[in-house]
Amino acid sequence: MAEAERTFVMVKPDGVQRGLIGEIVSRFEDRGLKLIAGKFMRIDDELAREHYAEHVDKPFFDDLSSFITSGPVFAMVWEGQDAIAQVRTMMGETDPAESAPGTIRGDFGLDLGRNVIHGSDTEEGSAEREIGLFFDEAELHDYERIDETWLYE
Ligand code: GDP
Ligand code: MG
Repeated sequence: MAEAERTFVMVKPDGVQRGLIGEIVSRFEDRGLKLIAGKFMRIDDELAREHYAEHVDKPFFDDLSSFITSGPVFAMVWEGQDAIAQVRTMMGETDPAESAPGTIRGDFGLDLGRNVIHGSDTEEGSAEREIGLFFDEAELHDYERIDETWLYE
């Protein structure tokens, strides 16, 4: 494998309420990515502000914050070759209405404010920062998938 990369992914409250955790986890597992951390949790206002720091001054932030804190989320870390960009591709566009069928947002969403899933963007350091916000080092688990030798050249 070229370098293994880690990305932070989260099933948002709408995805949890709609029973999509299993479907979403399956897609990443089937793709060959490796789950190295997972936590069912509730985001509070402070964590919402930290996680979405780049959006705190945007007009939609209050809606975003009350949505993301409105119910439990399923937070995860996935690892694999080019994981950050591959997850973004599998998620689709930010707006489900513009997301292609076959992507998670394109298959399970219709509205920008209810787009089911979060995944770290490809900006340098984003994934690392988000993983650190949600997980301690001891919660990240290192192991080998039995199919690893068949997933990578
Ligand atoms: P992402 O990285 O694809 O999730 O998109 P962004 O980082 O640009 O925005 C973060 C999240 O804020 C999105 O996933 C949406 O849930 C929400 N969001 C972004 N833009 C808007 C908007 O214009 N209106 C509303 N209500 N929510 C928005
Ligand atoms: Mg983003």
